[in-house]
Amino acid sequence: MPEFKKGALEVLRQPLEDGTVSISRSLVTLSYPADFMLVAAMNPCPCGYLTDERHTCTCAPNVIQNYRGRISGPLLDRIDLQVEVPAVPYSDLKATRGTTDSATMRQRIARTREVQRLRYAALPIHTNAELTGSALEKHCHLGEAEHAFLGSAVKNLGLSARAYTRILRIARTIADLSESPNLTAAHLAEAINYRSMDRAQHV
Ligand SMILES: [Zn+2]
Repeated sequence: MPEFKKGALEVLRQPLEDGTVSISRSLVTLSYPADFMLVAAMNPCPCGYLTDERHTCTCAPNVIQNYRGRISGPLLDRIDLQVEVPAVPYSDLKATRGTTDSATMRQRIARTREVQRLRYAALPIHTNAELTGSALEKHCHLGEAEHAFLGSAVKNLGLSARAYTRILRIARTIADLSESPNLTAAHLAEAINYRSMDRAQHV
């Protein structure tokens, strides 16, 4: 991802937020639908070895900072799931224990999509990702303890209001995957865990 020019990355912000893209020319501005899923990858540093225990990173701290700085805070804010993927040791390359096969995963996802389809049947939305305003409050309702938990996490990690909303939607999906009607602290903690790059900036 950091190999793209910063300007090219920054224009992703509007479609990521609104699902539309506006193109302005001298006389007219046109809006087009641009609802898409962004899947992107980057190395932890330019040499790629910063988090790899088997190699030594050769990047100077300012080089790492510049590299990571190419992904701006506002862009990062709009990425729901940020997951660090460690290098796989040779002994694990062929291991299949503890993994879920694609067919089982597909079934779980289809079931979870169906839960959302039924829940939002009376609304002009289909998924948790589209929840806003009163619908967000209703379907991502938090008990007092869960509210306090999320509040302190957002404060301690310096997360934005946008990140807060996105954490609620992701927690709703995690709860749906485990067929839980209520959002618990465990669902919230898992959703917060998926913001590893926002968190890294504040640790
Ligand atoms: Zn490095």
